[in-house]
Amino acid sequence: MATKVEAKTEKLYECEVKRRRVRASGSGYEPFWKVKNLEEALGDGDTEFRCKDCHGAVKVHKRHIANGPASHAAHKLKSDAEHCAGVLLVREAAEGQAARLSSSPVQ
Ligand SMILES: [Zn+2]
Repeated sequence: MATKVEAKTEKLYECEVKRRRVRASGSGYEPFWKVKNLEEALGDGDTEFRCKDCHGAVKVHKRHIANGPASHAAHKLKSDAEHCAGVLLVREAAEGQAARLSSSPVQ
C-alpha cells in the first residue's frame, strides 16, 4: 500500500532540547530532554534537538525573513516522519497506522 509522505511539508513547532541539570546526588550534571517551543529554543541558543514524540533526529529550519514561515523542525529520517505519533495525529491518511518511536532515537 502506498503511503503518502508529507515529510517535506511537516512542521514541528515544538521539540525536545537537551539541557543539563545538577544530579539529585549533588555531584555533577546529567543531561535531560525538555519539550520547548522551537522559536524560543533558538532564541535561547539551544543546539541539540530531537522530536518530542518519536525521539528521532530533526533538522531545524530557522525563520529567515520577518514575514516568512516561523522557525520549525522536520524529521531527518523519512521513516520517522512516516511513523511519528506527532505527525500521524495531524494526518488524515494515517488511520490504522501504528505510531512508533524512531528507528534511530537521539540519546
Ligand atoms: Zn517524530
